[in-house]
Order: sequence, then structure tokens, then C-alpha cells
Amino acid sequence: MRAPFVAVALSLALAASAVADRGGGTDPTRGEDARPLPRRSRSVGLPFRGALRDGVLLRESRHVRYVTEYAGTGNHWGTWEMVQLLERAAYRVARRLPGAKLSVGELSAERGGRIPGHASHQSGRDVDLGFYMLDARGRPYDAFAFASFGADGRGLPPNQSLTFDDARNWELVAKLVADGDARVQHLFVARHLKERLLAEGRRRRAPQVVLDRAAAVMSQPAGHPHANHFHLRIYCSPSNRPACRDQGTRHPWAP
Ligand SMILES: [Zn+2]
Repeated sequence: MRAPFVAVALSLALAASAVADRGGGTDPTRGEDARPLPRRSRSVGLPFRGALRDGVLLRESRHVRYVTEYAGTGNHWGTWEMVQLLERAAYRVARRLPGAKLSVGELSAERGGRIPGHASHQSGRDVDLGFYMLDARGRPYDAFAFASFGADGRGLPPNQSLTFDDARNWELVAKLVADGDARVQHLFVARHLKERLLAEGRRRRAPQVVLDRAAAVMSQPAGHPHANHFHLRIYCSPSNRPACRDQGTRHPWAP
């Protein structure tokens, strides 16, 4: 339990959040956010220098699986908005094109901060997503690890028998960029796969606004081509500001 509060107003505001505060004691990040946020996660600081408070665990489900290589890391915690976004997107892809699960790499550690192999992923607003892929017979394939794909959509060695699943990957992108709650800042992916995805979107007669947003958020970062996974980053939820901080690209749909 928490120590008694001096100010009545403050205690009212914090009473609900104390329920979710398993550790009790003093949390320095709570000081600047006096609004009541019961059961709401908070992203603190920047994606590459930050923390996560009251994070939400993304669980495996009918539509979501952990990429085997990362299943044991325990780094599947995100903000409430991020976890909701991933569950909604996975559900939508599975409903439109049944038979496959969304393959999730790592999000953040339970309390955020630095995790091995990533500069960002510190504040619950980053996630790595494996591509939907098909095996030699055209069936959805759940890979042990991320697999790289070339401009022709074929897997690169040693995964030549696999194919980039244009339809499901496009559905995923379309749902992510159209979400009304969590707003996408970046979807890092190799340039040649971005072109495949936009071509698929045009083939499927996606609304122009969705195509435009997808074109704006997908980019290939310098030095890391992202030919084997998406890296998704969402903006701070307005309720998490000012402790949560965005940096870089501000799209018109930023909250
Ligand atoms: Zn990443």
C-alpha cells in the first residue's frame, strides 16, 4: 500500500492508480502526472531513453504468436494503446484472410528501459513484427525466426521456399495506419517491400487516404534495411504527456 497522501485532491487522483501499482513505494515518474489514469499504462521519456509504467502484456492468442526465437525473452510488454492496436490488427487480418497469426518479435521489458539488441523499444511504443509468409504450397507459415525477402517476394537463403504474403501483410499495414486510437509514427521496412505492399494496396483498391498514410509511414532507415521484419512505433498517447515524449517526424495524424 501507499503511504497516506497529504493533499486530498492528489489522493483522490492517485487512488485509482495505486490499485495498479503492484510495487508500492515511491515512483519518481508519477510526480509530474497528477491525473487519474486507472489501469492505464504510461510511456515515459523517449523510445530510446525511457521507461514503461503499468505496462500491458501482449499475450499469445488465436491471432497472435510470439516469434519462437524471442518467445523466452519476456519482452512482450507495451502501452495499453500498443497492445490494443496489435490485437485489433491481428484480428482484422485473421478475419479478412483466415488461417494465419500475427508473428510478434519483441516489444519492451515489463518496466521498459534498455533491452539487448535494440536501441529503442524502451518505452512500450515499439514492436518488431515478423512478416506474414507462405510456404512452398502456399500455406501460412509460422517461422522460428524473422525471414528476409527480396524484391520478387521470394525468401532469401536459407528461406528460398518461402514467399512474402502480400495480401496479409498489406491488410496488416492498412489496419495499423487506419487505427483511430494508436497513431503510427514509423513503420520501418525495406524499400523494395514497401513498393510491393503499396502495389498490393492499389490492386486491392484500398482508399487513397490509407495508401497515402501507408506510403508516408513506411520507410527504410539508414544502416538497417529491415528486409526481415517491420519495426512499428506509435506516438505518445495524449494522456501520457508530458512525461511521454515524441521525437522526429510529425505526421498530420499525430495526436
Ligand atoms: Zn525494432
